[in-house]
Amino acid sequence: MTTATPHRALICKGCWQQMRVPVPLRGPWSVPFRLFGLRPSRMNPNTCTLCELMFTRVMRARNITVDVTVMFADLRGYTALSRQTSADGMSHMLDSFYDECAAAIWHHDGLLNKTIGDAVMAIFNFPIRQDDHAAQALRAARVIQDRCRMLREAALQTGDEAPVIDVGIGIDSGAVRFGEFGRSVRELTAIGNVVNTAARAQGAAAPGEILLTRAARDRVASLLDAPVGRAYDLKGFAQPVELFAA
Ligand SMILES: [Zn+2]
Repeated sequence: MTTATPHRALICKGCWQQMRVPVPLRGPWSVPFRLFGLRPSRMNPNTCTLCELMFTRVMRARNITVDVTVMFADLRGYTALSRQTSADGMSHMLDSFYDECAAAIWHHDGLLNKTIGDAVMAIFNFPIRQDDHAAQALRAARVIQDRCRMLREAALQTGDEAPVIDVGIGIDSGAVRFGEFGRSVRELTAIGNVVNTAARAQGAAAPGEILLTRAARDRVASLLDAPVGRAYDLKGFAQPVELFAA
């Protein structure tokens, strides 16, 4: 089984985009920068710790509203599976899933904001700006589905202990607020309707499926061939929500 090789930028994309300053992330030029604590960010290794610091400041301001695309990807059947697969097989499957998600998200300049249980949350258009952030999120989602399908087929072929990697993905676009939230563990993240809707759309997605909200679909129309919306009853929503399979 092959693991994804994440795309690695030589200079920080965030610093270059915002300030036109080339901050080396890799190679010999990065050595003196590392002495001052400037290194690749763990949320997006194509940005640096300085970007992360700015990101943290923006989030602490608490009233920053940004137009973004939020994507949730969730590993399905995880609980049922953990009863029939060994601990080693499970952790290998989870690692493969996270690696594939991270590689696809970073390749499309998204921020891997956090992992919640067996789901990952990604934000596009922050801190690296992207005019086409919904399209980038959809492309990343398609790569995740393709790669996980390949991993599943490879695992089935080896036959011995085939871990099943089934992924459901939900995507929504719109304005979110950034901030530090949570009472016991202060966490830097985005909040708002867009985050909730993306998470619920992911919950409604069948294994192997990508579900987009109308707002996200309207921004990626050129990447879809005439998708038909379906009304879903989502937890926490009084009215059915129309979602589009992509
Ligand atoms: Zn930077």
